[in-house]
Amino acid sequence: MSAGPGLDPFTDSPEIVQLRREVRALCMRFPDAYWRDLDRRREYPAAFVQALTNAGWLAALIPTQYGGLGYGLREAAAILQEINQSGGYAGPAHAQMYVMGALLRHGSEEQKSRYLPPIASGELRLQAFAVTEPGAGTDTTRIETVAVRDGDGYVITGRKIYISRVQHSDLMVLLARTSPREEHRPTAGLSLFLVDLRGAGGSITPRPLRMLMNNETNELTIDGLRVPAGNLIGSEGMGFRHILDGWNAERILIAAECVGDGRWFIERAAGYAKTREVFGRPLGSNQGIQFPLAMAWAHVESADLMARRAATRFDAGLSCGAEANTAKLLASEASWAAANAAVDTLGGHGFNAEHDMERKFRETRLYKVAPVSNNLVLSYLAQHVLGLPRSY
Ligand SMILES: Cc1cc2nc3c(=O)[nH]c(=O)nc-3n(C[C@H](O)[C@H](O)[C@H](O)COP(=O)(O)OP(=O)(O)OC[C@H]3O[C@@H](n4cnc5c(N)ncnc54)[C@H](O)[C@@H]3O)c2cc1C
Repeated sequence: MSAGPGLDPFTDSPEIVQLRREVRALCMRFPDAYWRDLDRRREYPAAFVQALTNAGWLAALIPTQYGGLGYGLREAAAILQEINQSGGYAGPAHAQMYVMGALLRHGSEEQKSRYLPPIASGELRLQAFAVTEPGAGTDTTRIETVAVRDGDGYVITGRKIYISRVQHSDLMVLLARTSPREEHRPTAGLSLFLVDLRGAGGSITPRPLRMLMNNETNELTIDGLRVPAGNLIGSEGMGFRHILDGWNAERILIAAECVGDGRWFIERAAGYAKTREVFGRPLGSNQGIQFPLAMAWAHVESADLMARRAATRFDAGLSCGAEANTAKLLASEASWAAANAAVDTLGGHGFNAEHDMERKFRETRLYKVAPVSNNLVLSYLAQHVLGLPRSY
C-alpha cells in the first residue's frame, strides 16, 4: 500500500519520524497474539504499559525539569497513533498523557514537584479521570458528587460511572461539586481534585464493568473520601474551566488513535484482497471491494491532516477547540467506516477472533461515543463556529 503520512518527512519533523520508528519497534514485541489473548481474558496489558513507561513515552508531555520528555502534543499523538496502527490498543495507557493537562496547566508548583517526577519515572501512575456520573452523563454540570470543606481538606461523596483504569492507577483526577448548581452559572461551582487512590481505603468502592472491548472500567461508589486541601487543582469552583484545556488535548490524541486504527484496517483488508481468490481472480479486483477501502483511505488521511493542524495549534498555544473537535469527529467516523469496509472485505474471517479484525472493530467503535459523542461535537461546531443557537 502506498504510504500514508505515517513516516512522511514532509509532514513530520525528523525527530518525529525517528520517534515513530522507535515506537513501531517496541510495538513489534507485542504482536496480534498478545492483544488477542488479553482481549479474550479481558486482562489489562500490564507488560505493554510497563514497556511504554520504561521507554519514557507515558511521560511524553511532562516537562523535562520534572523528569519527563517535554514533548508537545504532536509527538504524543505520533506515539499513540503508531500503537493503534501496529494493531495494538492505546486505550489502556493514553489517559496518562491527557489527564496530565489539568495538573500541568493549573496545578501548584508544590503539586507538580511532588507528583510529576514519580509519574515520569513510572513509580506512580496517573491513569484515571473521574467525570461521568450515572445521572449526569454528557451534561457535566449536573454531576451530584459533592466535595464539602472540612478542616484542612474536603470530604467527597457520590457516584461515578465508566471510570477507566482505576485498578491500574495510583492517582485519579476527580471532578466534584463544591457549591450548588443553582447558586451561579451551571459550569461554576465545580472543582478538580487529585485523589491518591493508594490511601483511599474503603472510601472508594469500584465495581468493574464488562464492556464491548477489553477496557478496564468501573462504577465507583465514593463515601466520605478525605482529600487534603493541597490536592485541589487550580481554584475552587473553576474545575470545569480547568478540564476544558485537557479536553482539547484528549480529542486530538483520540483522533490520532483513530487514524492509526483506520490505517490498520485498510492495510489489513487491502493485503487480504490482493491474495484471496474468489471466482478465479483476486477479490480486490472488484470495484465493490476497492471503492469502500479507497474511500476509507481518503477519509482517514483527511482526518489525519485536521488532527495534525489541531495538534500544531495546541502546541503553539493557539485556540484549537474547533480543530480538536473536528479532528475527533472526522477520525472516529473514518476509522469506523474503515472498520466496516475491512470486515466486509474479509467476509467470514472478519468475524473470526483469530483474524483480529473483530477485536479492532470493537475497540474503534468507542470513539464515536467517548470521550464525547459526535452529536455533541456537531452541536459544539454549530454553536461556536457557525454562531447558531445552543441546541441543548
Ligand atoms: C469504555 C468507556 C470508557 C469510559 N471511560 C471514562 C473515564 O475514564 N472517565 C469518565 O469520566 N468517563 C468515561 N466514559 C464515559 C463517556 O465519556 C460517556 O459515556 C460519554 O461522554 C457519553 O455520556 P453518556 O454515556 O452518559 O451518554 P448520555 O449523555 O446519556 O447520552 C446518550 C446518547 O445521547 C446523545 N445525546 C445526549 N445529549 C444530546 C443532545 N443534546 N443532542 C444530541 N444527542 C445527544 C449522545 O450522543 C449519546 O450517544 C467512558 C465510557 C465508555 C463507554
